[in-house]
Amino acid sequence: MIKKISRKILLLTSYFLLLTVFFGCSTPQKSAAPSSSAISEQSGINVGFDIDDTLLFSTPAFKKADESGEAAYSDEWWTIVNKSDEGNSIVKKVAEKILNEHRSKGDGIFAITARDKAGSNVLKSYMNKTFGIKKENVFCTHRKAEKIRELNIKIFYGDSDSDITAAQEAGAKGIRILRSPKSSYKSKYHPGEFGEEIIPNSEE
Ligand SMILES: [Mg+2]
Repeated sequence: MIKKISRKILLLTSYFLLLTVFFGCSTPQKSAAPSSSAISEQSGINVGFDIDDTLLFSTPAFKKADESGEAAYSDEWWTIVNKSDEGNSIVKKVAEKILNEHRSKGDGIFAITARDKAGSNVLKSYMNKTFGIKKENVFCTHRKAEKIRELNIKIFYGDSDSDITAAQEAGAKGIRILRSPKSSYKSKYHPGEFGEEIIPNSEE
């Protein structure tokens, strides 16, 4: 009788052990999960990214211009900003990962920045070299909503409130990339204010 019971227990134990192994193996690894809900959406769409504090921690490039003695926001000042990313700005890892995931699924990749056009050829080359974004897909404009609409961008990633509102105004989905607390830029920053999705741990 005791022998029978212990056999039953052994069988049951083996059964649960097998179940555990099966479900353990079939559960996807956490690291393979998409970093943005937009990754699982339709393929072949156009996706846009802001540059400063979204794809790049670029405070060091702006600092170079500030230290140059050129008048702030003059053509000369912007030329220094636009040529100073190399060796100074830092690529934001989570945003870069999201960009690569969109590219892998066949989406068109664009960058739209409110930086001035002065010296922007250097910026375009840098964006091409660093993120593989085509030079002709990098735009400098203050009218982001207009550009998002014109390019038929469906998802736009940005750190500033104005990135999210520009996307929403253009009928696109705005997704918030968090700004580094070390950024010198502190304005227009209220993550979640517009009901937008926020990418966790995207500060760095
Ligand atoms: Mg920005």
